[in-house]
Amino acid sequence: MSFSTFVTDTAGLQKMFEAIISKHETYAPVEKFGKFDYKKVSSLKECNPDSPIDATMSVKPLFFPRASKIIKYEASSAGTSIHETDEDPIAGKRVILGVKHCDARGLQVLEAVNKWDYIDSDFLKRRANTVIFSTRCDKADTQCFCTSLDYDVENLDAMDVAIINGPDGRIYLCARTEKGENFLTQNPAPGSRNPEPIAQEEMKKQYETFAASFRLKMDYKDVNEKMSKRFDSPAFEEASRNCVSCNTCAFICPTCHCFKISDEKIRDTGLRYKSYDSCNNAYFTLEAGGHNPRPAKYRRWRQRSMHKFVYYKERFGVNLCVGCGHCAISCPVNISIFEVVNHVANAPVES
Ligand code: SF4
Ligand code: SF4
Repeated sequence: MSFSTFVTDTAGLQKMFEAIISKHETYAPVEKFGKFDYKKVSSLKECNPDSPIDATMSVKPLFFPRASKIIKYEASSAGTSIHETDEDPIAGKRVILGVKHCDARGLQVLEAVNKWDYIDSDFLKRRANTVIFSTRCDKADTQCFCTSLDYDVENLDAMDVAIINGPDGRIYLCARTEKGENFLTQNPAPGSRNPEPIAQEEMKKQYETFAASFRLKMDYKDVNEKMSKRFDSPAFEEASRNCVSCNTCAFICPTCHCFKISDEKIRDTGLRYKSYDSCNNAYFTLEAGGHNPRPAKYRRWRQRSMHKFVYYKERFGVNLCVGCGHCAISCPVNISIFEVVNHVANAPVES
């Protein structure tokens, strides 16, 4: 199926965003203490759909919340009763503006595991009810490597509506899914029109300039192949030596999806939560009997990088990394997944 492209300008785009916000439940990056996180907004002035990539948090929590209530329960002498929690606040029809393409790709990657052996209907409902608007970046940040991975950054295959900055103030609005096509047709940018034949060429040029701005590049197929042969490599120990196991890299990552279940009980009333956890956490694999199969930090880092670049790829056909670089930007000791996997991949094979 081919989808429509329209051309507008900055004023048309702003008006379209304002109309979307006034008519639909809309989320967009909102600044707080120099960081941008996705919040529900009631005006364009509150948010910045063009927030800088290095300061913008992942959109993942709007699909997989940092902590969510699963059940409420009450204990009394008559026994324990279990109740549903309140309605899911993020399951309704909504629009998200300002999602980076890598982040939108993260949702596609997560979808595979969320409809695998256990169907996470909450995640899938949130996905189905959301229209994602995403602007193709004009320039890579220092830690970005999205163009080195296994998805189509040029053709913006992960969002519903892609926005591309053309020359001379022209802005292209490209539907990328049926959902995006329907939404764009029903909510057009005021004054937008079908583009001139030169549009494809201009969008291609914008991509070429963007692709040329990357500092980090790798051949992911080579990395997949080499890492699969280096499970016993001492390079994991070298690469993870400085890690303080704070888990920030996993919490901020658009594709990490480890979680824990915990109970909070006050007197006879309890709440059960599902919240983020990480395979970098020393207690993550601790078993009830006291045994921990991953007691050493390098083993946990080995799991993290092998899961991202070998196991997930084998099971679902895609890498569990979208090259957003946020883990490297946020790590307090400057560890970068890009450097770790390249270091391990290029280390000698242990005989
Ligand atoms: S591992 Fe790092 S670069 Fe890869 S998706 Fe997660 S945060 Fe982004
Ligand atoms: S953010 Fe850095 S220090 Fe923290 S767990 Fe990840 S690699 Fe280790």
